[in-house]
Amino acid sequence: MLKGKTAIVTGASRGIGRAIALALAGEGAAVVINYVNNRSLAESVVQEIEKSGGKALAVCADVSLFQEAETLVATAKEAFGSVDILVNNAGVTRDGLIMRMSEEDFDRVLQVNLKGAFNCCRHVVPLMVKQRSGRIINITSIVGLVGNAGQANYAASKAGLIGLTKSLAKEIGSRGITVNAIAPGFIETDMTSGLADKLKEAAKENIALKRLGTPDDVANAVCFLASEKAAYITGQVISVDGGMAL
Ligand code: NAP
Repeated sequence: MLKGKTAIVTGASRGIGRAIALALAGEGAAVVINYVNNRSLAESVVQEIEKSGGKALAVCADVSLFQEAETLVATAKEAFGSVDILVNNAGVTRDGLIMRMSEEDFDRVLQVNLKGAFNCCRHVVPLMVKQRSGRIINITSIVGLVGNAGQANYAASKAGLIGLTKSLAKEIGSRGITVNAIAPGFIETDMTSGLADKLKEAAKENIALKRLGTPDDVANAVCFLASEKAAYITGQVISVDGGMAL
């Protein structure tokens, strides 16, 4: 149970972030629903949580911007009194072969996926150190572990997140804070909805469990890492991929 705890979930208006926010709220946490564009979707997540008796607040912030991440964390602390769980989930893709990839597409993916996680950690860690407790969960990808043609920018950002996770775990473990990463495989969300059905069928063939993942599959792992049951786990990357990267 996460009653009395506050969680920030970045990119929680849709997809995996939305499922994580609903699941953490289901465990009793007050949840800050971060988004950058889709205010009405973020507000509908808040309403869904409130309807079930939980507490939530939608906060617009582009996590790639240091000061907006600072305001996001300060708003969460002001609204709910503490920040106990940070889930760095916000992510974007700008796929392309490296020979055609623009500098802008490389930079944007790194700025949101990697720098965004740094920005949020940078502002949350001082609060957690003061509390001498906290949970940071970074949503990376199996692509960060095994690479993917056409996603050099995305894979680099996700591999970077793994380095950030392990370094931070060593840095702040003595303060009672755990830092872990979850590496999803192929999850059905807006991010993957544009891919051709043929490609999805081919992906399924490579997945040991022979199905694509759902946002809830990832959210369940986040709830575990955020719980007391995961108190002695830090610096780890847990794949939630149905056996895709085996
Ligand atoms: P999605 O459906 O495309 O949703 C992306 C979320 O990130 C949205 O809530 C979006 O907010 C938010 N966002 C984007 N840029 C942001 C920014 N600069 N600041 C704050 N929020 C921002 O993505 P998803 O599939 O749920 O993916 C969630 C995470 O899982 C990502 O980190 C992704 O890399 C990772 N992942 C996904 C898969 C997969 O197969 N889907 C696999 C492995 C890893 P708005 O709605 O306001 O735009």
